[in-house]
Amino acid sequence: MTTSSANVVHSDFDQQHLWHPYASLPPSYPNIVIDHADGIYIVTQDGTRLIDGMSSWWASVHGYNHPKLNAAVIEQLGKMAHVMFGGLTHQPAIDLGKKLLSIVPVGLDAIFYADSGSIAVEVALKMALQYQIAAKCPTKQQFASTHSGYYGDTWHAMSICDPVAGMHSLYGDQLPMQHFVPAPPMGFERELTQSERDALTKFFVANTDKLAGFIVEPIIQGAGGMRFYSPQYLQLLRQLCDEHNVVLIADEIATGFGRSGKLFACEHANISPDIMTIGKALTGGYMTFAATLCTRSIADTISQSDYPALMHGPTFMGNPLACAVACASIDLILSYDIEACTANMQTIMEQQLAPAALLEGVAEVRCLGAVAVIELDDAVDMPTFQTLLIENGIWVRPFGKLVYIMPPYVITDDELITLCQALLKVVSIYLTQISSTVKG
Ligand SMILES: *Cc1c(COP(=O)(O)O)cnc(C)c1O
Repeated sequence: MTTSSANVVHSDFDQQHLWHPYASLPPSYPNIVIDHADGIYIVTQDGTRLIDGMSSWWASVHGYNHPKLNAAVIEQLGKMAHVMFGGLTHQPAIDLGKKLLSIVPVGLDAIFYADSGSIAVEVALKMALQYQIAAKCPTKQQFASTHSGYYGDTWHAMSICDPVAGMHSLYGDQLPMQHFVPAPPMGFERELTQSERDALTKFFVANTDKLAGFIVEPIIQGAGGMRFYSPQYLQLLRQLCDEHNVVLIADEIATGFGRSGKLFACEHANISPDIMTIGKALTGGYMTFAATLCTRSIADTISQSDYPALMHGPTFMGNPLACAVACASIDLILSYDIEACTANMQTIMEQQLAPAALLEGVAEVRCLGAVAVIELDDAVDMPTFQTLLIENGIWVRPFGKLVYIMPPYVITDDELITLCQALLKVVSIYLTQISSTVKG
């Protein structure tokens, strides 16, 4: 173990042997060793307490070490940690299914439990394809998406991610060809123009014979750019998918469970997708778990066809520990008045982070629901930025030009103000340091 300038512990073993997300080995700068996490705090091995601005990538919405979530895991652990889902079922899977169907957009009626978000997306694509084949539309075999999307890191999920900023260039022509339309125009409150409507309509008309499905992150595009867009866009997509018999897949893995200001982001547009994926906050950040939901009509069409089985079956499908903790997490979310909670978070973040917009080097500050984004002019120099974050007692993980927070819902107003003020300070010091380095 070694200690860095920001006085946090690093691990030599980790450096040499453990891959981390989107990193080289050894990484270009060391990972920080965490000892434990409690409530909204992540505590490093040397005892530094960091306010969590990330909810561990949208997931830990109730904070860490939550007594009710811990109790749900422990109770289930005493019965069974896991049992195969092939031929067997169990109460936690049934209870979770009932809870989900009572809260998701109307029409979704069948659930496939998957083991991670990317897998839920793969299953969604398989479902859409099998549906089109079963519905005797064999030419409808390709998928469309928007630019600036992110749907996961597995092969087909990758193929529908943003074709420029995504990983397409790395894997070249090995990725399946998909169709892309421009990213939805930026701005939750921005009206769609007639020419934008016409362009999307034209795309559907031109590709109607080829398209099995259209996948979209409703209202908030996450890892592809942290962009917010109008419910009108989603409504138009719904209408065009209906007219052209294209399966509308809403990826709510990041937005689901309240993050956008509604329990599910599709509610902003009052639409229901044909297929929906959820993950991330599903277990309150306790373990890897996800699900793909579809309408009764899709489930029936597949199940009454010549090849009636949905061809996917992960070893850990329907894991009872994950189902049990997901049930407890949903109960907590339903106890919060999630719309009021996230509206309050949005107001505080808007007020506190507004001054960032005046800093030289900041392109835009934007907030929606419990998400706030400070977009810089240039990509962040991570080692410099991270050292400042730790020195100021907060944990935020920018990517590219995007510095963003999506704090746990349990954060108090005072703690959220502290987080925002520390972030503002870090951004301001960072931009000053960078500009003096450039000049000097
Ligand atoms: C994170 C994410 C995924 C992938 O989920 P993993 O659990 O990381 O595989 C897919 N879609 C969206 C919108 C996401 O934010």
